Amino acid sequence: MNGSCCSPTGPITNLPVRQNLSAAIEAAHQQGWSAAVIVMKVGDLTEINHWHGYATGDRVIETVMERIESCLSEGHFVGRLGGGHFLVFLRTQLHRAALAEHVEQLISRVSSAMDFGAGALFINCTAGVSQMPDDALVADQLLRNAELALRSARIGNQAFYSEALQQNLASHAEIRSALVGALERKEFFLAYQPQVCMKTGETFAVEALLRWQSPSLGLVPPDRFIPVAESTGLMPELGDWILESACLQASEWLKEGKPLRVAVNISAAQLEERGFASRVQEILADCHLPASWLEIEVTESMLVGHVEDTQRTLLAIRDAGVKLALDDFGTGYSNLAYLRHFVFDTLKIDRLFTSAVTDARAGDVLVRAIIAMGAELGHEIVAEGVETAEQMQSLQKLGCSRMQGYYFSRPVRPEEILRD
Ligand code: C2E
Ligand code: CA
Ligand code: CA
Repeated sequence: MNGSCCSPTGPITNLPVRQNLSAAIEAAHQQGWSAAVIVMKVGDLTEINHWHGYATGDRVIETVMERIESCLSEGHFVGRLGGGHFLVFLRTQLHRAALAEHVEQLISRVSSAMDFGAGALFINCTAGVSQMPDDALVADQLLRNAELALRSARIGNQAFYSEALQQNLASHAEIRSALVGALERKEFFLAYQPQVCMKTGETFAVEALLRWQSPSLGLVPPDRFIPVAESTGLMPELGDWILESACLQASEWLKEGKPLRVAVNISAAQLEERGFASRVQEILADCHLPASWLEIEVTESMLVGHVEDTQRTLLAIRDAGVKLALDDFGTGYSNLAYLRHFVFDTLKIDRLFTSAVTDARAGDVLVRAIIAMGAELGHEIVAEGVETAEQMQSLQKLGCSRMQGYYFSRPVRPEEILRD
């Protein structure tokens, strides 16, 4: 049962993979072994195929398969389920913490830089885990449980299946119906995460992050409900509320004599709305907030497609004095041409790079290159997702002095933002 059970490009259906899984689960069960079924999802293969070509997409798949295999031993196997989904079977007596550590290694191995000669590609990887016999005894159920766990995992992380998860994990349809009227019922609030300057030790800005406390579904993470809000057309309205609330908060802080720049994430739907630049200025005026206290964060993926319109909108926003940040820099497209077409004040180094910065091989080199390039182009660089003192020190050594992450503070209520 060792080795991969299908070719990297995969057969038309995933039946052979599932058949292999059934046989492996049955054998493990009969022999008194425990087992884990892991579904790993990598990046967005459709986007990779589109922007880097199908040949690169195929090589990504091959590389992911090879990397997973390199972490497996006798009695384990990997197969491709289709798209960017991979199945890993582990016959193991590992207890949960050790298993989680193993899955963590798999995620970090898969998400380290890939370089096929045209610049490094960073692929994020998320995993869902289900265990035999605890969660189920048959392959099909274990696979469905692992997929359910995957849906609840944050990008780049893992989640284990549990019965509570089954009950709590709202479907797309449930989220959609719970979102109706949620804005009017005041179920949303903003949390703020400090961005710290290591040279002065001060919080120089905060990022506003949307939170939804649904009475029926609990606290739903933004990764889960924002795509639904976008697909149901709620996003321009919700985005407007976010901008207004964040600007009001910044204006409060300004009035209190403790001004702080507030960075606000905007969604593609907002950016594509006609008159978005004027709306931003209207909100600033209504909130009596000078434009330089607002920063707008956009991601690379939002810049593709409508380059000219987007460029015009972003230029108008920037001309009004609002700062612009390029979020999650380096993930997805890594197309440096965007830096020429669009004028950004800030580049936010994605958490993927930050977590690799203490790894003396690829991560370190890439972060160094991003910092040097940012300095050359006059951008402010902010490293995101700083979780440990080692990462903070490595980034400082590389000349990055602005950081954001759990090491400094999780996103908190505005009254918890402490400043001198
Ligand atoms: P993002 O813009 O990249 O936001 C950073 C995310 O990383 C936040 O997750 C934050 O809580 C998390 N984070 C910060 N420091 C650390 C760290 O040290 N370690 C780890 N593991 N994570 C860290 P959150 O709040 O769940 O938001 C997820 C995504 O949802 C955001 O990613 C953004 O794309 C979107 N989002 C959040 N708020 C808004 C919003 O108001 N509008 C729009 N359009 N999107 C939003
Ligand atoms: Ca952001
Ligand atoms: Ca980000």
